[in-house]
Amino acid sequence: MVSWTGVIDASSAHKGWEPAEGTRYLTTSAGFEELREWLGGKAEYLLEVFIFIEEPSRDDIARVEAAARETGDISRLSPTDTGLLALASGMDLELITEDRSMQNTAQFMGIRWRGLSGGIRKVYTWQKVCTGCMGRFDTSSDECPVCGSDLKARSVRKKRDI
Ligand SMILES: [Zn+2]
Repeated sequence: MVSWTGVIDASSAHKGWEPAEGTRYLTTSAGFEELREWLGGKAEYLLEVFIFIEEPSRDDIARVEAAARETGDISRLSPTDTGLLALASGMDLELITEDRSMQNTAQFMGIRWRGLSGGIRKVYTWQKVCTGCMGRFDTSSDECPVCGSDLKARSVRKKRDI
């Protein structure tokens, strides 16, 4: 039985992530495409030795989307980000990522995560605040549903310390 080290996100490859001897990481096929952009020719070698591809289940993706809607991270997460979170959740593996929204969603869901350059210290929930009428909305749109002014994302409350 293979023992997996974690799930790797391309954001950590930008930060100089290198797999250690004997480690085995999982990523999704979309995650690997992003890794390939950063690692270039080295990606193919890593794919044979250190990185393996596994796709997340639909159920796990749905659970990540529901959690990210709650924290407000949903508009900051790409489908690739969501897939990697779902894979880490489904496989019960640590997620290696520098992406704050991925860290925030992972923490909120109880997924273990690690950032090479530290990471978030608190879990935040986000809302959009209207620059016109000052209304607060849970929406991925950048336009106020009431007055049509621009919406700005604000962290509205600290959920809990990590
Ligand atoms: Zn408004």
